[in-house]
Amino acid sequence: MAKRNIRLEKDPILYKISKEVTQMTNRNRELIGDMLETMYDADGVGLAAPQVGVLKRIVVIDVSEEGDEPVVLINPQIVELSGEQTGTEGCLSVPGKHGTVTRAEHVKVKALNEDMKEFEIEGDGLLARALQHEIDHLDGILYTSKVEGELVSNSEDEE
Ligand code: ZN
Repeated sequence: MAKRNIRLEKDPILYKISKEVTQMTNRNRELIGDMLETMYDADGVGLAAPQVGVLKRIVVIDVSEEGDEPVVLINPQIVELSGEQTGTEGCLSVPGKHGTVTRAEHVKVKALNEDMKEFEIEGDGLLARALQHEIDHLDGILYTSKVEGELVSNSEDEE
């Protein structure tokens, strides 16, 4: 595994639509391993393939405290959304900033795992937020387009 460079906000690749993955190849396995390493190294809770410059519908998420419960989602699709939560959100592609975003409180997502087997994941709160945020990346959408009010610099919090 190797760490990859995280693409930043101004990179046009972040605004493109990613393609479905049709088969699990060595190249895709390597990409997934690299995405996990890159996410953990950056202390993130989620990362989408376009953020490392690859337009494939692959997302990795880990919202656990210990950072030892990775979830890999290939071709994820939201099948259910309910409720509402308003909270703070950030993105590894927009370092040093955060903003307030309203999203569904609960989601159900259908996806393929690394063996291209279908599974479902349901989540509330942070997991639901991470799923919606990362799946948005696959459609070229950054959370900055959904922020209510201003984007805030993290250092302003310390004042
Ligand atoms: Zn993001």
